[in-house]
Amino acid sequence: MKLTVIGCGDAWGSAGRHHACFRLDAAGLVLTLDFGASSIVGWHRLGMDPAAIDAVVISHLHGDHFGGLPFLLMNAQYHSTRDKPLLIVGPPGLRQALDRAIEVFYPGVARRGWRFDWRVHELEPGGSLALNGVSLSSASVLHGRDMAATALRVDDGKRVFAYSGDTAWTDDLIGISDRADLFVVDCYSADADIVGHLNWPVLRDNLSRLKARRIAVTHMSAAMRARSAEVVAAGVTPLDDGMEIEF
Ligand SMILES: [Zn+2]
Repeated sequence: MKLTVIGCGDAWGSAGRHHACFRLDAAGLVLTLDFGASSIVGWHRLGMDPAAIDAVVISHLHGDHFGGLPFLLMNAQYHSTRDKPLLIVGPPGLRQALDRAIEVFYPGVARRGWRFDWRVHELEPGGSLALNGVSLSSASVLHGRDMAATALRVDDGKRVFAYSGDTAWTDDLIGISDRADLFVVDCYSADADIVGHLNWPVLRDNLSRLKARRIAVTHMSAAMRARSAEVVAAGVTPLDDGMEIEF
């Protein structure tokens, strides 16, 4: 598998990093975990063609994680060579939220029809889905009360990639990271206990309980990013936009 970090920023674009978006090449598929509002910019900035994407998998319905989907669809409709279908997977409520977002940003466009096939598959937290040689599974995490928030795992039979989505600490992360070759985990805050996100002291204290071979942190605030040397010293990889990790 190969991870390409399209965006690993927080919701506010701290330090100029793009919203959450992780390209994962696995078993001949191009998957994208999350597609935040600025993700289409991130794809083009890295010289990558969004028409390559087979499936987008959304962790939760916040704009910095799914808000770029209308732009991805519009790019495919009017400005790309996409000649294959697009599958969009995410938690319950995704279809309605996406339809509303498309209508808000580009009124009427959905009624004129699409020149390519795309469909939405809503995956219950705890559910799984087989995709051409890849198994995708989701698990509930702790982020906001008004929607389902999930962590995601991708298993191609040889390697496992795990992603926490946005979450406060929960012991469920131990199982979510189990046997993962790479685990990308939220570490938004440097010190303060922010509701719905992990902070570095809590993550650091729990590192030995996580069961992944390699751990990388994402969604860092500016204050958290300033402590990257500590992260590295703890054996953890601070992600950056454009970074590639083969595993
Ligand atoms: Zn977020």
